[in-house]
Amino acid sequence: MNVIDREKVDLSLDNKEFLQFYGHKKTVGMFTLGCRVNQYETEAMAEKFIAQGYDMVNFDDYADAYVINTCTVTNMGDKKSRQMIHRARRRNENAVIAVVGCYSQISPQKVSSIEGVDVVLGTRNKGDIVYWIEKACSERRKMIEVNEVLKNRVFEDLKIDKYQHRTRAFLKIQDGCNRFCSYCLIPFARGAVCSKSPHKIMEEVKELAHNNFKEVILSGIHIASYGVDISGDWNLVRVLEDIDRVEGIERIRIGSIDPNFFTEDTISRISKLKKVCPHFHLSLQSGCDETLKRMNRGYTTLKYKEIVAALRDAIKNVSITTDVIVGFPGETEEEFSKTYNFLDKIKFSKIHVFKYSPRKGTRAAAMRGQVDGSIKEERSGKIIELDKKLERQFMNKFLGKNMDVFYEGKFDGNCDWYEGYTSNYIKVVSRTENDEDLEGKFLCTELESSENGYIYGKIKSFR
Ligand code: SF4
Repeated sequence: MNVIDREKVDLSLDNKEFLQFYGHKKTVGMFTLGCRVNQYETEAMAEKFIAQGYDMVNFDDYADAYVINTCTVTNMGDKKSRQMIHRARRRNENAVIAVVGCYSQISPQKVSSIEGVDVVLGTRNKGDIVYWIEKACSERRKMIEVNEVLKNRVFEDLKIDKYQHRTRAFLKIQDGCNRFCSYCLIPFARGAVCSKSPHKIMEEVKELAHNNFKEVILSGIHIASYGVDISGDWNLVRVLEDIDRVEGIERIRIGSIDPNFFTEDTISRISKLKKVCPHFHLSLQSGCDETLKRMNRGYTTLKYKEIVAALRDAIKNVSITTDVIVGFPGETEEEFSKTYNFLDKIKFSKIHVFKYSPRKGTRAAAMRGQVDGSIKEERSGKIIELDKKLERQFMNKFLGKNMDVFYEGKFDGNCDWYEGYTSNYIKVVSRTENDEDLEGKFLCTELESSENGYIYGKIKSFR
């Protein structure tokens, strides 16, 4: 499915003039579509360019090379990826254009045939991006390096040394997914689960702590599966326990996680870790058992409800957020009502709603009962309203309380106001006094009032 047939690809370049690539400092513009893992990988690729003497420029500026890190989660992701390729070409028709990521992994032939594309990499080999761009340029031919990923078992280590944020750092600890939800192509684009070595994770976390990072956010495609592919009985909880002991790191967050990860044992062990933030994003996708079955999600609403109850019992002030898809094939009014009522009953602190978009090549795209766009729109609108109500209810519970807020930077470019998060992920905006720089500080803050979706805080004292 995802290995390119080189015989059928025209590898010559269409009279490109690469002259401007030499004789001055080279520039590169990058664009990322999709998830946090892609954002992480773009940042890692940017470091490779900088290390090789390139200047980073905005994607909309003139550059010698452009990299588009694509997404293929929906057909819309493919379309946007193509639009960005055209946009790069309009900026500089002689630029070297590299397309990497999930879309080029799934559809390498299609991507390589788009006018202006010179380098096609899949979800692997991103660490060698500079090499492939320069090779395309010097050899004046297309470079296509899209490897089979389904059998790949090696984690590609893309380390980031200089993070954009001064205070918190994402750490990709896992790639791939073995779950095969019926609407998702990611397992075909990213391959099977591969885990970063625990030894390397610890080395990087210690380095982050040494460089004054206080918060680390563990991310991956399916982090609940961390460790299944490596020896030594490793799993995500064990990694969390090890990071919890690293001096200097004050908060550990985990990205979106499969609810099946939480068992009595994992909840009990996590509840003992002081640094793991009481905020879990448990992807639900539907609150109706029939729909969940068609999605092949591997849990029921009852199981999900029990997991949430156990987390709330074990962890004080825990915030549970989620994703939900509306308009999945076959979703009747009755099924949608079940989802709506389930969301209301669970009382999520945040719901991200997505309108189902058929993804060619998935089982769901071929299912009967595709739902009309206007119905999806209407259902999505109802959940957005519900989300506003539930979010408000959750945040209001904390009004008047003093909580530790980790300030990340200025709010909306305003000099006096800073924004930060409580450990359970409430965004707080507070005013500084005497021009004090709050970035990177944990400050005890009273959550005073709520207005326009923000919580305004009053700083009480330094920790
Ligand atoms: S768990 Fe399901 S939705 Fe998430 S990446 Fe794997 S197959 Fe896709």
